[in-house]
Amino acid sequence: MTEQFHYSEDRESESAAKVQALEALLVEKGVITSTTVDKVLGYFESEMTPLNGKKIVARAWTDPDFAALLVKDTPAAIEQLDLPEGMAGAEGEHIAAVMNEPGVHNLVICTLCSCFPWPVLGLPPYWYKDPVFRARAAREPRAVLTELGVPLDDETEVRVWDSSGHSRWFVVPTRPEGTEGWSEAQLMDLVTTESMIGVALAAPAATAGAGE
Ligand code: FE
Repeated sequence: MTEQFHYSEDRESESAAKVQALEALLVEKGVITSTTVDKVLGYFESEMTPLNGKKIVARAWTDPDFAALLVKDTPAAIEQLDLPEGMAGAEGEHIAAVMNEPGVHNLVICTLCSCFPWPVLGLPPYWYKDPVFRARAAREPRAVLTELGVPLDDETEVRVWDSSGHSRWFVVPTRPEGTEGWSEAQLMDLVTTESMIGVALAAPAATAGAGE
């Protein structure tokens, strides 16, 4: 599969070199200053993190009205929670949640590039941008999910959502068994970034060591 794409082994360092060259040029032309990129990255690394997504999912698991609104009007639901400023700002436009349910598993990819709901999930992981992952997840999602440890029975429908600048999807995973009565804070520990992309399930209750 990999050989179809012909990209070099050290493409990550090549990308980094290109970005540095572009940044240097923009600084030289006076478009940005030498601290602009670091400031933007710092904001997305400290404020716009998967912690926000975990809070949203934990609330959806414990509040059916919130869950219904989250699917119907995701920005309105997000607005109700105490989350950092800027949730609807840059890279947070047109966020939409899709919910796993019995018989339906959702998977989010971006076939074109790397569109991602940054305010909810943080910066996109490197593998999310990988051409092989993007192509295979679109073409054979069931096989990819099995390889990633999410085997689905034949009756379960896989819905693949293609994120773009017009829709940035994230998944509300299924609440794990044995978590009745857990607090939102305890439930948040079970929600991973991967589960909100759909390449994993929420962690089983037994692995969290909470909720006794
Ligand atoms: Fe994209």
